[in-house]
Amino acid sequence: MTPATTPALTLNNGVTIPALGLGVFQSPPEETTAAVETALRDGYRLIDTAAAYDNEREVGEGIRRSGVPRDEIFVTTKLWISDYGYDSALVGFEASLRRLGVDNVDLYLLHQPVPTHFEDTISAYKAAETFLAEGRARAIGVSNFGPEHLRTLIDSTDVVPAVNQVELHPYFTQPALRELHAELGIVTQAWSPLGGVLVYVPGADESHGPLTDPVITDLAAQYGKTPAQVVLRWHIEHGFGAIPKSVKPHRIAENFDVFDFTLTVEEVAGIDALDKGVSGGPDPEQLSPETYPKVVDNS
Ligand code: NDP
Repeated sequence: MTPATTPALTLNNGVTIPALGLGVFQSPPEETTAAVETALRDGYRLIDTAAAYDNEREVGEGIRRSGVPRDEIFVTTKLWISDYGYDSALVGFEASLRRLGVDNVDLYLLHQPVPTHFEDTISAYKAAETFLAEGRARAIGVSNFGPEHLRTLIDSTDVVPAVNQVELHPYFTQPALRELHAELGIVTQAWSPLGGVLVYVPGADESHGPLTDPVITDLAAQYGKTPAQVVLRWHIEHGFGAIPKSVKPHRIAENFDVFDFTLTVEEVAGIDALDKGVSGGPDPEQLSPETYPKVVDNS
């Protein structure tokens, strides 16, 4: 496993982003440094964190401990909604850089649209445009934006988002949104690429996720790979970005060992057909400071 084997996607400003990276949502801070260090030693070159994950410091520490030069690593972080509005976004961004211990990030995302305060969402994005102009973010984008808010944001700002990071796995494949991304030149990056959200939501059990679906497990048996590897290969075949999360070294390695096999067009279509069209996560259009009062501490 070497970095050279990681396919890259080209963003709309020419910057390249590894197609596969490590996510750290719900990675406990005390396990995050080791997870990041392990991933980078295994060949990962993309780490996806967020101010709201409360582990940016540990991500930074993992990067430093890995010994991999900073300029070989693609670091994504996200602005949380408690820092929306132009001036607040400046504070939130500075705080993320400080916690990560870096001078710039490779991708800076608005974590969510806030439909009830959309002017603040737009102002936060305008602040992100200045980080891009200053070179403190190599690319900027959004997360969890549906078509309407994506179009409104684009109509109100100068820089088309490079990425929209959205829930995407074999049970929720988002074909309409992906088509819009293709039309607008936006890279689709999958969160919960393994369907994790279907498993860790309260009340769920492991049998709800795609990793136990017979279509996936049969392909895994056929190729001598694991269900997670088949699902991640499906993301790669489609040209999505994917950022699976694990804090377990054997799974971190497993999730990156997907470059020695391919799926046929028919097999990809067979996985596409598993789509249930139902999101496992909370409806992004319902999210607001009132419904989700988490505040990031930037002190
Ligand atoms: P994933 O689909 O990555 O699933 C993660 C879950 O699957 C964890 O419980 C993990 O457990 C387990 N797992 C990991 N690898 C394997 C494997 N090979 N076999 C079996 N189980 C496995 O879901 P996430 O929701 O965590 O999404 C991934 C990343 O996407 C996040 O870390 C974050 O970076 C991003 N994200 C972004 C969101 C947004 O709003 N922008 C929302 C949610 C996620 P364990 O750690 O114990 O291995």
